[in-house]
Amino acid sequence: MAEFFHSVTLKEDKCVGCTNCVKRCPTEAIRIRNGKAFIASERCIDCGECIRICPHHAKRARYTHMEDLGKFKYNIALPAPSLYGQFNNLDDIDYVLTGLKKMGFDQVYEVSRAAELVSEATRKLMYNPETGMSLPRPVISSACPAVVRLIRVRFPDLCDHVLPLKSPMETAAGMAKREAVERTGLPERDIGCFFITPCPAKVTDIQMPLGIDRSKVDGAIAISEVFPTLSHTMDRLESIEPIANSGIIGVGWSTSGGESAALLNEKYLAADGIENVIRVLEEVEDERIGELDFIELNACAGGCVGGVLCVENPYVAKARIQRLRKYLPVSQNHLAGGPVPTDMEWEGELEFSNVMTLSADLSEAMRMMVEIDNIEEELPGLDCGACGAPTCRAFAEDVVKGACRKTDCVFVYRKQMQKVASTLSELEGGLGWHPGGINNDGKEERE
Ligand code: SF4
Ligand code: SF4
Repeated sequence: MAEFFHSVTLKEDKCVGCTNCVKRCPTEAIRIRNGKAFIASERCIDCGECIRICPHHAKRARYTHMEDLGKFKYNIALPAPSLYGQFNNLDDIDYVLTGLKKMGFDQVYEVSRAAELVSEATRKLMYNPETGMSLPRPVISSACPAVVRLIRVRFPDLCDHVLPLKSPMETAAGMAKREAVERTGLPERDIGCFFITPCPAKVTDIQMPLGIDRSKVDGAIAISEVFPTLSHTMDRLESIEPIANSGIIGVGWSTSGGESAALLNEKYLAADGIENVIRVLEEVEDERIGELDFIELNACAGGCVGGVLCVENPYVAKARIQRLRKYLPVSQNHLAGGPVPTDMEWEGELEFSNVMTLSADLSEAMRMMVEIDNIEEELPGLDCGACGAPTCRAFAEDVVKGACRKTDCVFVYRKQMQKVASTLSELEGGLGWHPGGINNDGKEERE
């Protein structure tokens, strides 16, 4: 496996180096080099903001395609609940699920079923009267992989606040494969599980999961890829199979606030949109937010319905999900009594990734920091982006790391040119030179 896998990639021929994405990236992962955007792999969290903002469609998401179903003998679709918000006037989820089967999947397993179990497991882990154990407060949801990656690279002190439970997608894949092995008698390797995804962060999470060694999900197909065929198929269905088996709690995970509402606890906060998420995390880190038990954070505005691979406006999708909830029971999936099943928990801890630090050697890092401060003082502080970095501070860092030269800043360059010009004119004055030239005889001519 490559050191880094990213769903979000650059289509270089479309990039005009406009710097829109550079200024928007939450981890300062993008620079302009030779007139084109360049993504620093180790910093990218696959949030999709640059896809959203690029006016030239130069940023793309890589994901699995329907043809990949051919790799397995038996295929299961794992629809994210945000898929339901893409269809107008939907009052029965079974239309969507039957449509997916007609498109070529052998089985459909709703991710919202697993979400209901994850909600129950979260309640158990947070308040365990049997063991008296509880998680460090506030507990931060681990459902949005872009947020978990953001914490991992920018908020080291918050890593142990992240809920150590597998996501509903991962839990659903485990349960769906178990059921399919029993039903078909096939070995697990012949069964493919495909998440129908609203965002690129999930694609990356399957390839390079955090908290677990290996994902049970075999691919993620964008909602935008299945939508045209699926809606066409749904329009022509002659009969509907009763497949749906989840309720308000599970489907509610698709919009911001749904996960925390399911905890039946009032001491929670739900924030969405990457800038709001960063603001909340900064406040938690500075201990300016107290007395909260749970924090739900979604990198996309509106929650998963706002993912860049969705087709509908997130607020329209949210309104549709709210309407759909009217037809649903509260919850249809429950854990057996006793502790949280171990296969729902993370296999390891979330470890801070040191990608933002200057050097592993502390004294060298301090020296670099001083140098950055000095260079920053020489810069205009306009954060104009003309140098290809998002801020003057980030540019100073790049200079100290040797990634660019100070004169790549147009203001520094102009100052240096002015200095050279005035030195030259001083020299001219000192040597008694005068404006003029050499005549055809080789003699100096004066004005
Ligand atoms: S937004 Fe970024 S990727 Fe898109 S054209 Fe501008 S610099 Fe290139
Ligand atoms: S996906 Fe997000 S983190 Fe990665 S380069 Fe784009 S904006 Fe930055």
